[in-house]
Amino acid sequence: MKASAPTYFYPNRMGRIILLAMEEVLGRHGVNAVLNLASLPDYIGHYPPHNQDIRFPFGHISQVQNAIESAYGTRGGRGLALQTGRACFKYGLREFGHGLGLTDLAFRLLPLPVKLKVGSEAFAGLFNHGTDQRVRLEADEKFIHWHIQRCPLCWERKTDSPCCHLAAGLLQEALYWVSGGKCFLVEETGCIACGDSACTIVIDQIPIN
Ligand SMILES: [Zn+2]
Repeated sequence: MKASAPTYFYPNRMGRIILLAMEEVLGRHGVNAVLNLASLPDYIGHYPPHNQDIRFPFGHISQVQNAIESAYGTRGGRGLALQTGRACFKYGLREFGHGLGLTDLAFRLLPLPVKLKVGSEAFAGLFNHGTDQRVRLEADEKFIHWHIQRCPLCWERKTDSPCCHLAAGLLQEALYWVSGGKCFLVEETGCIACGDSACTIVIDQIPIN
């Protein structure tokens, strides 16, 4: 990294969630192999502590994503990153769900379109206020556009196709949970690693099932 390049961070406990979710998907040996490949062996057996200190660097998050693709191939890595994202939501909901109001009965009783709007705004706020990640939401009748304008997943990466699969998995699981078990089409259509100005994840507001 250039000396002048800015450094951005997630809070430690979000870094911890990513590694715990990876461990659930890849197994302990898989995570250790990926951390070695990512030149981050110090995290093996020493995940970031469970606190809100903003100290888990974006560069480490993207190195891990890159290493998953190196270890399992682009296609295999994509599937594993999606699964990791889904598992991250499960851990994250335990940590952050109450603070976001997502577990309140009043929220659960809202009609689906309102839940999607309120839920996506609360979720974007979690990143915008609690981390150095920046998310801008845009919505029309049919789609929600989740624009990650400063993205840890592809930080300083260059790829031929969008590569922030963990975010897509995370949003898929969030939608599944918010809607009480419905599946939504979620696709990353633009990515900073491919030269776009943001990593854009498009969510079809009409569920598949
Ligand atoms: Zn990205």
